[in-house]
Amino acid sequence: MHQMTLAEIARGLADKKFSSEELTKVLLARITQLDPQLNSFISLTEELALEQAKAADARRANGESGALLGAPIAHKDLFCTQGIRTSCGSKMLDNFKAPYDATVVAKLAAAGAVTLGKTNMDEFAMGSANESSWYGAVKNPWNLENVPGGSSGGSAAAVAARLLPAATATDTGGSIRQPAAFTNLTGLKPTYGRVSRWGMIAYASSLDQGGPLARTAEDCAILLQGMAGFDQNDSTSIDEPVPDYSASLGDSLQGLRIGVPKEYFSAGLDPRIAELIQNSIKELQKLGAVIKEISLPNMQHAIPAYYVIAPAEASSNLSRFDGVRFGHRCENPENLIDLYKRSRGEGFGPEVQRRIMVGAYALSAGYYDAYYLKAQKIRRLVKNDFMAAFNEVDIILGPTTPNPAWKLGAKNSDPVAAYLEDVYTITANLAGLPGLSMPAGFVDGLPVGVQLLAPYFQEGRLLNVAHQYQLHTDWHTRTPQGF
Ligand code: GLN
Repeated sequence: MHQMTLAEIARGLADKKFSSEELTKVLLARITQLDPQLNSFISLTEELALEQAKAADARRANGESGALLGAPIAHKDLFCTQGIRTSCGSKMLDNFKAPYDATVVAKLAAAGAVTLGKTNMDEFAMGSANESSWYGAVKNPWNLENVPGGSSGGSAAAVAARLLPAATATDTGGSIRQPAAFTNLTGLKPTYGRVSRWGMIAYASSLDQGGPLARTAEDCAILLQGMAGFDQNDSTSIDEPVPDYSASLGDSLQGLRIGVPKEYFSAGLDPRIAELIQNSIKELQKLGAVIKEISLPNMQHAIPAYYVIAPAEASSNLSRFDGVRFGHRCENPENLIDLYKRSRGEGFGPEVQRRIMVGAYALSAGYYDAYYLKAQKIRRLVKNDFMAAFNEVDIILGPTTPNPAWKLGAKNSDPVAAYLEDVYTITANLAGLPGLSMPAGFVDGLPVGVQLLAPYFQEGRLLNVAHQYQLHTDWHTRTPQGF
């Protein structure tokens, strides 16, 4: 039962082969049995899950239908869930029970999805390895000595290990696509504004975007359908109609123009990954796509710009966690300043503290023009590169990451080494564009992802290309040993 995709579950439930309650019990038992190896969950919500599953079964019995009605999922632990701990992977929020549901959580619950729990993540979504969580590192099911990627590593490890078919995640600089690549999943970061950020604890507000992580593009279409849409509670949410993402999956790729940026194949890319990317290009050519070399000349500036803008926004967003308004409060403060200092010093881990300091520095009066303003200018150049490229091509293709998943602890002493691994993903966040990662093969037994980028609001095109690719390849069907 645990091998089923969301699409298969929807068919099974519609055909009354099993009930949502039965499936939910099987998956909860599987999580209890296998998750101690992975640490992919921070909280399990068994009672809520069984209640929601029974309610979904009752709705089906009353003649209701829907792809998510009775489908088990989990939420990354930065989506607020009413009455349930929402920790953001931090000691700061260890005892925080959200007083309301995030829009994404409420929408999925209304569609009948069943919440099995809240998944582990890098503290405040800062990281690429899921090692900065206060609840401990998450392990990659493909090799328990390797990282699953981050910051949505808990969602990725759980779905890859078949503990559940799909989960929500968020992507500020790659945190849906990079863990998807590291664990052999399909993950989609939507256009900025496509999915409401209301109730999604903010890291860098101008870059954060929620999206689906699943095994197939078909399943990402189903989950995105339940997440996307205008929300008047989020002033950056965009009032564009939501297309039927499943309807366009079958479109032909004949004549599709795929751009491959020459800058992607530079010295930093593992040559074995480069080869797998070339193979995926050949596969898409067989399906009728036309390949064109393009250039993204400002890509080299994206990492420095991102690692100024994201910490700057984080330093502002995280100022609310002061032990008074929100978050952990230290014992016996001597005075107000002592309370702030110790509450924040105790509540935030080292990576979060580093980012707050970098961000506050970049925004400070003497340095604002030199760092923050400069970074914003680069951001515009990165966007202009994409706009020029999309005049010539329909999608852009390349690797999701320059290397496969590294060993746990390998980059702990050198944060910049980890930042450099984001080179292919962060440009989409700077520009606000949608991006998808899908399985493209293996290197040393570890999965490799290929990334597709599309113009604004063309999530359907990304899902269509990925689905057609997955009809003709079987990388996405491979299961990690022991799961
Ligand atoms: N690795 C990037 C960072 O640490 C991206 C994280 C994310 O997308 N949440 O900021």
